[in-house]
Amino acid sequence: MRGEREIGGLRCSQVLAQLSEYFDGELGDLERGRLEAHVRECDHCARFGGVFAAAVRALHTKLRASALAPAVRERLRARLELPPRRT
Ligand SMILES: [Zn+2]
Repeated sequence: MRGEREIGGLRCSQVLAQLSEYFDGELGDLERGRLEAHVRECDHCARFGGVFAAAVRALHTKLRASALAPAVRERLRARLELPPRRT
């Protein structure tokens, strides 16, 4: 991918690939931490466009501000048409 960056041990394409798992809470602590570290520092992921762009931007904002409100998280999940969380 043009301009792809590696931050926190993850490349942008890997972040996008793991994003739905992130929102499903399926990533382990290590993966989640790496993904958050990447998004926090990377202003490129949000510019890829496509289905995850809005989610990346929201996550970016969240990580730079404070905790994502549960209602916002649910709206994101709905927007991404993610399946209900498996238990
Ligand atoms: Zn990135």
